[in-house]
Amino acid sequence: MSYINEFNIAIEPFIQVNYNALVHSTKAFGGKPQRYREVQADYQGYAAELLGKALNQNALDDALTLEDREKLFESLRHWGALTNKGDYKKSYEVSLRRGFAISPGGGLSPKPEPSELFDQSALIQSELWKYIVNGQDIEFQSSIFQPVGGMDNIAKAFEKRVGDLIEYNAKVTKIDQSDTGVTVNYQQQGIAKTAQADWCVCTIPLSILSQIPVQTSSGMQAAIRSLPYAASVKVGLEFKRRFWEQDEAIYGGVSYTNLPITNISYPSTKFCDKGKGVLLGAYVWGANAFEFTSLPPQERVKKAVEYGKQIHPQYAEEFDNGISVGWHRVPWTQGCYGLWTEEKRAEHYENLCQVDGRLVLAGEHASNLPAWQEGAISSAHDAIKRLHQKALSTMA
Ligand SMILES: Cc1cc2nc3c(=O)[nH]c(=O)nc-3n(C[C@H](O)[C@H](O)[C@H](O)COP(=O)(O)OP(=O)(O)OC[C@H]3O[C@@H](n4cnc5c(N)ncnc54)[C@H](O)[C@@H]3O)c2cc1C
Repeated sequence: MSYINEFNIAIEPFIQVNYNALVHSTKAFGGKPQRYREVQADYQGYAAELLGKALNQNALDDALTLEDREKLFESLRHWGALTNKGDYKKSYEVSLRRGFAISPGGGLSPKPEPSELFDQSALIQSELWKYIVNGQDIEFQSSIFQPVGGMDNIAKAFEKRVGDLIEYNAKVTKIDQSDTGVTVNYQQQGIAKTAQADWCVCTIPLSILSQIPVQTSSGMQAAIRSLPYAASVKVGLEFKRRFWEQDEAIYGGVSYTNLPITNISYPSTKFCDKGKGVLLGAYVWGANAFEFTSLPPQERVKKAVEYGKQIHPQYAEEFDNGISVGWHRVPWTQGCYGLWTEEKRAEHYENLCQVDGRLVLAGEHASNLPAWQEGAISSAHDAIKRLHQKALSTMA
């Protein structure tokens, strides 16, 4: 956000949570997608009711004072939209959360009709509750933004200011260092070239750097080679019309599924446009991602459409075009982000982030915030700060 402010990059809201979007499991409710809001309201309502019962049956007397039990019961009624007695049942109030069978309207339109609740056991067994907490992660908190016109606008804003320092299409093939400087060999349009400098900040992802000869301490070398990268595939699907808005009143946000496509993310722009619309039709991870990229690109798109049809039957009629990217196949990243584990961090992270002789690494892989630009940028800030201090101390 600080660079967005500094560089005056136009942004717009990115809608992460949409209670009107869908949650879907092939193993629940006959494979029929349900509204996020219905699952959330009933899950909260039933959980509140059960906890309230436990309180009133004195099951929690040892854990809570009488005053806290009373206040908690009051909060559960509020949180779960329970009756005064603590029951969760079909009502006007509950339908204000989960939606109505017949929504309130004007004049002589039909009287509002509260909606039926899910069966409690079916809801618990559905596992759809997995999806309703996604927007609560701090990483997906509201408000969240995207640059108007695409994420590239952040990079382009940097380019505008320091473009004359960038050499494009320069593929680094080797990094050497001595007590006095760093030598980098690279290929540019088939020509072997060399660059020399006093210090080097290297932001090449470890998935690539681990394949390049780099002169470092053995600790940093082991760290570079230790980190596997996540595999991921995204599929963009273009439709003849924005049926998710027109037919289902889903304006932005994300629907979740247990299918390999994992989610469908709706555009946060051009709402109510009468023309074609593009959505993220698959965000595939792990083994499923490898399975997707084993197919030719058009087959991947076809697969995403087949899966998506289970959530939006309109896919059959409305599909127009599609594109897929397998991030683990992109030659200059070969992965989506570094897959740190706690054990790996304990063993390698400090070594990875050291100023090693005259070389320091930066990027999302050298951060405690993997898979985010924030991690990459804050890692760079930290690396150049420490490098600057070292450079000053060498001059003294
Ligand atoms: C599918 C996907 C979705 C994402 N969504 C988001 C999001 O919504 N929000 C968010 O904040 N982040 C997101 N991220 C993460 C974000 O893109 C990364 O964290 C960030 O780009 C990492 O920055 P970096 O500088 O470390 O690496 P990169 O941006 O990968 O930059 C590394 C650079 O090194 C270059 N390079 C590679 N090999 C060589 C070589 N041999 N010689 C010279 N140069 C080389 C590459 O060309 C590249 O330009 C997403 C990532 C992916 C893959």
